[in-house]
Amino acid sequence: MTGALLVVGDVVTDVVARHRTPLAPATDTAAEIRTLPGGAGANVACWAARSGCADVRILARVGTDWAAWHEERLRCAGVRPLLVRDPGAPTATVVALVDEAAERTFLTDSGAALRIGVGDWSPTLLDGVSHLHLSGYLFFAGTSRETARLALATARERGVPVSVDPASAGFVTELGVDRFLAAAEGADVLLPNAVEAPLLTGLADPAGAAAALSRRFPLVAVTLGAAGALVAVSGQALSPVPAPAVRAVDSTGAGDAFTGAFLAARLYGADPASAAEAGCRAGATAVTVLGGRPMVG
Ligand code: ADP
Repeated sequence: MTGALLVVGDVVTDVVARHRTPLAPATDTAAEIRTLPGGAGANVACWAARSGCADVRILARVGTDWAAWHEERLRCAGVRPLLVRDPGAPTATVVALVDEAAERTFLTDSGAALRIGVGDWSPTLLDGVSHLHLSGYLFFAGTSRETARLALATARERGVPVSVDPASAGFVTELGVDRFLAAAEGADVLLPNAVEAPLLTGLADPAGAAAALSRRFPLVAVTLGAAGALVAVSGQALSPVPAPAVRAVDSTGAGDAFTGAFLAARLYGADPASAAEAGCRAGATAVTVLGGRPMVG
């Protein structure tokens, strides 16, 4: 029987403000404002559950302010929340300002998310787990990076495969490519996007970058937005996988949807190419809805 998928990552409150006119400094600008559950790790978990993974769990740190709401939203999406309440920091919050051209500007407060410490980790979290997924955001702060490294090492000791999503080209650059790659060392699966894969390798061609990365991480899936995805296994790039044509309204969480569906498919025995097809279907669905989570209910 297939075991659970455990995600260690971030749970974020997304405040999305869509304004039709340019921001007017020092006065009001009318906007449509929605508060939505998000966070790369939590989004991956929800998409994995939506893609048929029967047992998905997420370990994350949140403030006491939004903890109950996030637990309820995760449960509704079929995910078992393992949320550590942090009395000393608010839940991570992202304010997304979306203008008429759908251009997005983010204000990011990582709050409790990156305070996830080694004390929050226990090897027993891997009981009944068949795959561990680490959100790349964990690698960008010392405390959370140490926790991610510990989780990765424990999983390896137990023979549980591990995947990592590099999450943010900007933060990878800030940390340094070599430091990021060293921190993710030992992962079995890497899921970068079309910006991150070239950044991590110095190779402009995504197929070349995917092949190069797969010499270090045995299975690599590079997502290419509307162009689909590329998979490479142990140094060899496979045929590209196209994305279904859809009318995109919001690209938030497309990569998380791909990752969730890809991992769910792999857990249930799909080969890498079929898993990438499932990932592309979920990614295409994700861009047709507002926010980073699948529709529930
Ligand atoms: P990220 O959000 O990490 O940058 P991508 O933008 O590469 O990820 O999108 C992830 C996946 O979602 C793609 O591989 C593709 O399958 C799907 N996708 C993204 N944008 C579109 C789109 N406009 N039309 C159809 N599918 C899309």
